[in-house]
Amino acid sequence: MHASCSQTLAMFFAMREDQAEEAGGTRGGICMQYGVPGNGDRALFWTDNWVDGKPICDLAPTLVTLVAPIRKKTRTVSQALALVGNGTPRWVRDITGGLSVGAVIEYLHFWEWLRHTQLTPGVEDMVRWRWTSSGQFTVQSAYQALQLGRTAFHGADRIWKAWAPLRIKLFFWLASKGRIWTADRRRRRGLDAHDTCLMCDQANETPSHLLVSCPLAKEVWWQILSWAHCTCTFLAGEVSIQDWWEHIIAIQAPGRRKGVCSLFMAVGWHLWKERNARLFERSAAVVSVIIARIKQEVDLWVAAGARKLGSLFCE
Ligand SMILES: [Zn+2]
Repeated sequence: MHASCSQTLAMFFAMREDQAEEAGGTRGGICMQYGVPGNGDRALFWTDNWVDGKPICDLAPTLVTLVAPIRKKTRTVSQALALVGNGTPRWVRDITGGLSVGAVIEYLHFWEWLRHTQLTPGVEDMVRWRWTSSGQFTVQSAYQALQLGRTAFHGADRIWKAWAPLRIKLFFWLASKGRIWTADRRRRRGLDAHDTCLMCDQANETPSHLLVSCPLAKEVWWQILSWAHCTCTFLAGEVSIQDWWEHIIAIQAPGRRKGVCSLFMAVGWHLWKERNARLFERSAAVVSVIIARIKQEVDLWVAAGARKLGSLFCE
């Protein structure tokens, strides 16, 4: 494979790896790992595939549950094997809490095996491709890994097939996955966040509240769907963006559904813009102004070629 192509793929997988980590996964879940220890300075002791091509977390799963997540993510092989205190290797100190029978058996097994492990000073750990038994990169294994890492996302087709500007499709893609920077997400990341929804001041700000359940959002949905001669009924309880979208599409006549998909994105996008104006510009519009902006946006999209959207108004 051409070097730049390999690099691009490696960068892509690294990006996927970041995303996995952000979603609560662990380093090395998708991509490359340090598999062949040299000096042990880069391979991670608990999670990389350095024990005969396998990670300790697979070989001793019970024992690894007793290791703090921060240690799993940072402890290198050389640090772990270094002797501390009265000749005990540091990895033993990473294990905290009481040992079950299963954990003791795993512990004894590894103690023996690790006693004979020799690192090679001056030689860097080698990267090993996770998805082939040889550790060598192949295009086929990369595509298979892509399929494996892909999580089914209900409603993705609706987003990518509907007529809407790309930035708005991307916004919906992120919003549907709960990855727009609403107050709940900011708090989870330890960032400053406002207390309640800036539109209604009644509930926590989450993507689904903002775009679906917020009383102001409901008012906007009702008015815009009525304007486009579409049916509008609301669902009870906590409703996700995907469920709301599916519901709104399902209650329309089949020939109107593609147009309604575009309309859906125009409404959601302007609710988000209104929220941002309230947060960053301290400027709040009344519902009638938000409605007027959405109508203007729809006119622009129709003029730019959104035929199905335009057909909603031709009856
Ligand atoms: Zn609200």
